[in-house]
Amino acid sequence: MDKVIANLAQKVLSGELLSRPDIDTLAQQSYIKMDDLLYWANEIRKQSFGNKIQVCSIVPGRLGGCDQDCAFCAQSARYNTHLDKKPKVLSDKEILAAARRAKEKGVGHFGIVYSGKTVSEKELARLEQLIEQITNEIGIAICGGFGILNKSQLKRLTKAGMRRYNHNLETSRNHFGKIVSTHTYNDRIDTIKASLDAGVGVCAGGLFGIGETESDRIDMALQIRELNVDMAPLNFLHPIPGTPMGDQKPLTPSEILRIIALYRFILPRTNLKVAGGRVLNLRDMQSWIFYAGCTSIITGDYLTTAGRAVEDDLCMLADLGLEAV
Ligand code: SF4
Repeated sequence: MDKVIANLAQKVLSGELLSRPDIDTLAQQSYIKMDDLLYWANEIRKQSFGNKIQVCSIVPGRLGGCDQDCAFCAQSARYNTHLDKKPKVLSDKEILAAARRAKEKGVGHFGIVYSGKTVSEKELARLEQLIEQITNEIGIAICGGFGILNKSQLKRLTKAGMRRYNHNLETSRNHFGKIVSTHTYNDRIDTIKASLDAGVGVCAGGLFGIGETESDRIDMALQIRELNVDMAPLNFLHPIPGTPMGDQKPLTPSEILRIIALYRFILPRTNLKVAGGRVLNLRDMQSWIFYAGCTSIITGDYLTTAGRAVEDDLCMLADLGLEAV
């Protein structure tokens, strides 16, 4: 067993947070002793989360037609992708039906996600009413992702029943300017802080495989740790033809597992949700993500790409002796 990784793992298991030099050492060592990294990441996961895995499904309440320029995103109207340049907005009826389907299939958390920088007052009022209706009629935990919002807007949605707000950092502060120019890193941090102030759970993570360095990945993990959010989605680029990242080479399964495990060491008590890119990039190694420290998945389809059937994911968890919550 590798002593360097074992000592750092013991530090985490005893309740200490790793310093930046510790993390740099761990990252270097992880290339040599990947098995040890995974073994200890799994121990850290079990200590904080036992055998529970949070299962979420999402629906694109508004799809595409976004005026922002995020270089990885199929929904930006600036790029010629498979999506229409005009946004497609789901009706209340369609969103209610999707929430009902998720509940019936045994999924505990349902996210409504909108493309675009933010939402109008009219749309916010509609979402307030819809979230309240889903909470009362269907009884599934509702999460939202509606772009940049302020504290009072987030409080309204929280009062209506929203349990968690999703707003990703996407990458490090240093790398952000290379992938987005239409809003700033601080815009994103401000919304995350406003969500925390509004008293709602926060889901804030990012995307890997977009030309970032190891140092960018560690910087983002430390930013998430500083913000003290309780859930961090980890997405792995599914290159979309037509976007500036369309020709980017996807990350390998072992690199993805190494990233998840590093994040588990850095964020021992934060839920890590493996989200977009799981099916395409991990293929037959999807079940290994839990061994690397993942504690949550998005099941069913993603926003712009196909995912895995809910039944298959729930069967995978049961086979692994993990409990879907
Ligand atoms: S990530 Fe969000 S803000 Fe950026 S282009 Fe896509 S939909 Fe628009």
